[in-house]
Amino acid sequence: MRRMNRRTSLAAMAALPAALSTSLAGAAVIQALKPSATMPVLFLGHGSPMNAIEDNPWRRAWQTIGTEILARAEPPQLILCISAHWLTRGQWQITGMARPKTIHDFGGFPQALFDQQYPAPGAPAVAQKLAQELKSPASGAAIGVDNSEWGFDHGTWSVLKPMFPKAEIPVLQLSMDYSRAPAEHYLLGQQLHRLRQRGVLIVGSGNIVHNLRATRQGSAANEAYDWAKEFDSAVQEQIKKGQLDALANFQSLGAVAQQAHPTYDHYLPLLYAAGAARSNEMPRFFNAGFQSASISMRSVLWG
Ligand code: ZN
Repeated sequence: MRRMNRRTSLAAMAALPAALSTSLAGAAVIQALKPSATMPVLFLGHGSPMNAIEDNPWRRAWQTIGTEILARAEPPQLILCISAHWLTRGQWQITGMARPKTIHDFGGFPQALFDQQYPAPGAPAVAQKLAQELKSPASGAAIGVDNSEWGFDHGTWSVLKPMFPKAEIPVLQLSMDYSRAPAEHYLLGQQLHRLRQRGVLIVGSGNIVHNLRATRQGSAANEAYDWAKEFDSAVQEQIKKGQLDALANFQSLGAVAQQAHPTYDHYLPLLYAAGAARSNEMPRFFNAGFQSASISMRSVLWG
């Protein structure tokens, strides 16, 4: 099986700092999920990796949402994150390591960004169990467990660090089998629904519009291309109406969809979150607006 987007930097492979080892040693490793009240589901537009460390409205909204989630009667037992940046081909994979590494899968950013770590624990026993429970929608094949290659890419840690800075909640990442059709990603998202009653916070991390070739640096949040606004609005409308299964047919929007997603890796995480949501759940939108005119930061909370 070939993995894509493997640009793990040497910095990420460096030995764990002493303080990190201590905090990990103190973190409880969960062995199993317990029944819970229904957890929310999130889709987050992550945009530039710099949002992880820049004080800006996008990041402040993530901080607010994280605080809100932790203030609920039951905090999540586990976070399952589906990031635009972990694409596999031929099989879905879930992270199975006890101490997932922080991956700095980008280039050309300040050292401060490469210095970031997100030391949340993994949950190997839970990962093994989920790999058996979840099935590839078309083939029924089991999900693979990755014990060494991946960890937390920036699609995961750049949003989780502002939301849950203490990094106490265990985190698993689920890859996206990029050889499969969008509808299958939605179907796998539907399989995640029942995990919400077992303390799992599902987080899809991508962007509803994502065209890096068209970015215009310095654009204000309300400045975007017409095609970007049109696609973003169409998706928002479907979510508002609870037409969640229709989201997998985004390519039927034609040229606008092609412009919004020259490749659609950043759209797919929305299908997991929407699959895990229910059409009668009221969506709450936040971070509506654009980064660099061609990246929609629109985010959604269900439940
Ligand atoms: Zn991204």
